[in-house]
Amino acid sequence: MTYRPPIDEILFTLAQVAVPPGSPPPLPAEELAAILEEAGRFCAERIAPLDRTSDLVGARWEDGRVTTPPGFREAYADWIAGGWNAVAQPEAYGGSGLPVSVGTAAMEMFTSSCMALSTLPVLSQGAADAIEAHASEALKALYLPRLVSGEWTGTMNLTEPQAGSDLGLLRTRAEPLGDGRHRITGSKIFITFGAHDLAENIIHLVLARLPDAPAGVKGISLFLVPQRFVAADGTLGAENDLRCAGIEHKLGIRGSPTCTMVFGDGGGAIGWLVGEENKGLACMFTMMNKARLATGLQGVAMAEKATQKAAAYALDRRQGRASGFDGAAPIAAHPDLAKTLARMKALTTAARAIAYAAAAAIDGGASGDARASLLTPVVKAFCTDIGCEVASLGIQVHGGMGFVEETGAAQLLRDIRIAPIYEGTNAIQAIDLVMRKIVREGGAEVARLIAECRADVARAENRVGPSAAILADALTALEAATAHLLSPATGEAAKLLVAQTYLRLFGLALGGALLSRGAAAAGTRQADWTRLARIYAEDIAAEAVGLAGQVLSTRRDPADYRALAGVG
Ligand SMILES: Cc1cc2nc3c(=O)[nH]c(=O)nc-3n(C[C@H](O)[C@H](O)[C@H](O)COP(=O)(O)OP(=O)(O)OC[C@H]3O[C@@H](n4cnc5c(N)ncnc54)[C@H](O)[C@@H]3O)c2cc1C
Repeated sequence: MTYRPPIDEILFTLAQVAVPPGSPPPLPAEELAAILEEAGRFCAERIAPLDRTSDLVGARWEDGRVTTPPGFREAYADWIAGGWNAVAQPEAYGGSGLPVSVGTAAMEMFTSSCMALSTLPVLSQGAADAIEAHASEALKALYLPRLVSGEWTGTMNLTEPQAGSDLGLLRTRAEPLGDGRHRITGSKIFITFGAHDLAENIIHLVLARLPDAPAGVKGISLFLVPQRFVAADGTLGAENDLRCAGIEHKLGIRGSPTCTMVFGDGGGAIGWLVGEENKGLACMFTMMNKARLATGLQGVAMAEKATQKAAAYALDRRQGRASGFDGAAPIAAHPDLAKTLARMKALTTAARAIAYAAAAAIDGGASGDARASLLTPVVKAFCTDIGCEVASLGIQVHGGMGFVEETGAAQLLRDIRIAPIYEGTNAIQAIDLVMRKIVREGGAEVARLIAECRADVARAENRVGPSAAILADALTALEAATAHLLSPATGEAAKLLVAQTYLRLFGLALGGALLSRGAAAAGTRQADWTRLARIYAEDIAAEAVGLAGQVLSTRRDPADYRALAGVG
């Protein structure tokens, strides 16, 4: 089965679902359709055929050099030549300056086509964002044009062996040389595309500590460390003192090199400060927030691909009797199997709606800031969990053929399994949602969102029918759970224990409301939206009330969990 870019679904989501009713689409309809059809064609024809080889051959490391799988070089060169790397990048540095939601749509199709290769532009775009927001004009002028175009690529160097979720523990050092440059020494692990053969230069954004910096996260600064030095006229010079000491052997995304990077074992890599001293983490968050949305989008993209693959298989494979068929029926005709396929489609559509709503909030500029900030951990965690759930269901639909590698269904689950882990694990996202976005912010934005969601469900009632009541109940459940978290009587340990439960509830309730929005706006071409909203309400959103019950319970004793974990 070949991947089919879901252009109609994406266009409808962008125009009717990601933005409140009556809002203009991100671009005029014809222009948007033309761009996305072209992007879809490119991804399906040039990128998707690489996916299997990417998995089978993977990235290779030899003597410090990383070779990417066959075909990556040519496809990546075509990607940048077509201007696709720069879709939503600033015009001042050669980008097309299109809305983030348009870039999001192009990236969804790229990611479905080959998730491993898609991790490269995600990081380059994030690095460009961080440099644009925080670096000096000189650094911007020197590095941004070729990072924006994709001729050079970017990395995010946070993780060290002892510093994963807890970046306060990182030890890489930066020593000022007195002339604006810094000498960087230390090691980083798990650096995506830290070394490769697809570009002439790699621009590393590295978190490190200045001498006498305060301990913890308040003593971290951000540095731009190029693989090769760049002269004032843009010509490339000597190699910097940094190298890739090896790459990981992984469960999935095998074509994406995950590198151990060593900075300065020949005397010190040279780097330049980005932003203020000791404010590096805040600067890196510019990159991390975009990367978190891009990671959530990976969940959408892989769920879409798994759903397409499972649906095609289920029409082809014949087993057992079902009404309307003589002889063995396609497995899709069995009520349970059809229900599984519908669940996959409903979850995928809801996840896409949430991810695109976050992108649309970013396009809203300052007025969308609070919404984008609230939705970012939900997109990252809810959508990546959905990606894993749907990819796993896809294997189930294939039966035994799903468990063997031949069909490619297993690769989808292996590839997407990283997404709940990197870019801040989903547990860390849930803590961010509960402790910062809800409790610290005081709940005003979530209250606004719930009110909008209620209006969406009410507007769709005549189409969704009695099932709309379940979507409304899910919102009531979210409201009650939110109030519980905001209550001074709820202790910190209790909040942390239910953070992931709350995030799932949030995603389920929001997904139902956005499907209702789609159902209310659907014309004859989108008749499925009404069915999906009904099925989502009956089979999926109904979980929300139970989840709220878990959040609201005051019977839970945190000590029980600690004792069972052996840390009592
Ligand atoms: C393929 C791949 C690519 C990657 N790419 C990059 C990259 O480009 N750049 C980069 O810097 N890093 C990268 N990483 C690293 C990645 O971001 C980290 O693996 C991730 O942040 C988790 O850190 P850790 O692995 O040290 O796990 P740990 O932090 O040790 O976490 C282990 C478990 O403990 C939980 N946990 C930890 N702290 C808490 C807490 N406070 N509350 C509740 N639970 C907690 C976690 O949720 C997790 O389940 C990559 C990793 C992989 C595998």
